[in-house]
Amino acid sequence: MREFQHYIDGQFETAAQTFESIDPASETPWALMPRSTAEDVDRAVKAAFRAFHDSKWSGLTATQRGKLLFRLADLLEQAAPELAELETRDTGKIIRETRSQITYIAEYYRYYGGLADKLDGRYVSIDKADTEAYQLREPIGVVAAIVPWNSQLFLSAVKLAPALAAGCTVVLKASEDGPAPLLAFARLFHEAGFPSGVVSILTGFGEDCGQVLTSHPLVARIAFTGGPETARHIVRNSAHNLAYTTLELGGKSPILVFPDADLDSTVNAIIAGLFAATGQSCVAGSRLLVHKDILPILVERLKVRAATIRIGPPDSMDTEFGPLATKRQLVHIEDLVARSLNAGAELIMGGKRPSSHTTGYYYEPTILLCKQKDIPCLHEEFFGPVLSILPFENEEDAIASANNTPFGLASGIFTRDLARAKRVSSAIRSGIVWINTYRMISPLMPFGGYGLSGLGREGGAEAMLDYTRTKSVWIRTSDEPISDPFVMR
Ligand code: NDP
Repeated sequence: MREFQHYIDGQFETAAQTFESIDPASETPWALMPRSTAEDVDRAVKAAFRAFHDSKWSGLTATQRGKLLFRLADLLEQAAPELAELETRDTGKIIRETRSQITYIAEYYRYYGGLADKLDGRYVSIDKADTEAYQLREPIGVVAAIVPWNSQLFLSAVKLAPALAAGCTVVLKASEDGPAPLLAFARLFHEAGFPSGVVSILTGFGEDCGQVLTSHPLVARIAFTGGPETARHIVRNSAHNLAYTTLELGGKSPILVFPDADLDSTVNAIIAGLFAATGQSCVAGSRLLVHKDILPILVERLKVRAATIRIGPPDSMDTEFGPLATKRQLVHIEDLVARSLNAGAELIMGGKRPSSHTTGYYYEPTILLCKQKDIPCLHEEFFGPVLSILPFENEEDAIASANNTPFGLASGIFTRDLARAKRVSSAIRSGIVWINTYRMISPLMPFGGYGLSGLGREGGAEAMLDYTRTKSVWIRTSDEPISDPFVMR
């Protein structure tokens, strides 16, 4: 079995303990991963703290930091075939997606590399005589970054790139599920010339690794992506260090389809919005809200299109739909589908493991039709390939259903009526609204949710400010002596 190492303070180390990583397509162990301990985390954070203050890093100009990020982006592109293969092997995500996604991830490093030296302070026209004042923006310090098992390279990039551009140092904890691409990626920091300790990458279990990291007294900033339950742990952990925390959490994103929508485009967007990545995406459009007049035709067209999706081995370029990443995920989806059928959902298609793939964590593209609003599949996150459809009567009803969730990450609106699209987008409580499209993403645009979908935003220029804090500098410009404060004038 291949053995991976963690990367601490510029060194690749074999961990004292390891655990087996399972190939989701064959259900067999294929690699040994380092099980980083509390002591490893402590060493990595202390190294990051030293590196933060060391002139090898703090003495670089912002332009030099930007150039390091450009170099990293180039190396990432060169390493894309190898990293894509590793991600596909370790998570079951299809090779078509991992290849194209990694190339795009390089753009995040370039975007923030370019922004590094645009991080300006501000001169303030202060309301005091003989005084000048300005605000500096300084990097916040050591960042604890934690990512979940889907898209670990991408979810790391949206944290690492702005943090490093701002001048922070980072200790990153990969998920214990599918960490191979991230552990292999560590090498590129070395090759790009980042000083030791600026980035360390570990993997270990939530409690002995994640918890120690997020409560560490030298951590000043936490950037977390994962589920709401873990987020609550993180917030409790941060009570120890009072670290500034951002949270990117789950979703139950609605797609609203009005009768005037272009159905060809809508069907393609729904299929891509949910069944890409086998539904294991935080922005998966998992709730389809359809006007009652077009319900039969849209259901029929989705059924026909979804039936043609090619299920297969994730490492084949012909495959459009691979296995789920873990057995835990498969069991969770089976359970939620069963509970939803018991509660009255109608099974339109799927709802089982495919007979063509009995080995591997495969689950068929599944469509459930709900006539009532209280069915579990309309409220709980699957994080898998299950589309739940609910009809609506009118615009008001559609908005009420869209907002009938504690989540608020993304939403989609399909209509040719621009006035309606703008009205509905204002009324929906979600951090992202896509109109006549779905699942678009760019380093230039903020990404994040309302409610249980999270706190703060990643992406866009503003995200870099979240890795800084201001320092207010006051300068007295008069040469007159300061008068004695206890002498009455
Ligand atoms: P989890 O919340 O279970 O885990 C996320 C990360 O937190 C993992 O690295 C995990 O480590 C770690 N962790 C677990 N317990 C602790 C703890 N006590 N302290 C610190 N860290 C801890 O999420 P999943 O991995 O199951 O990922 C799925 C979730 O992520 C879904 O809800 C999904 O919607 C969300 N997500 C959100 C995105 C967004 O941008 N909004 C994007 C992608 C996913 P370990 O793996 O070792 O347990």
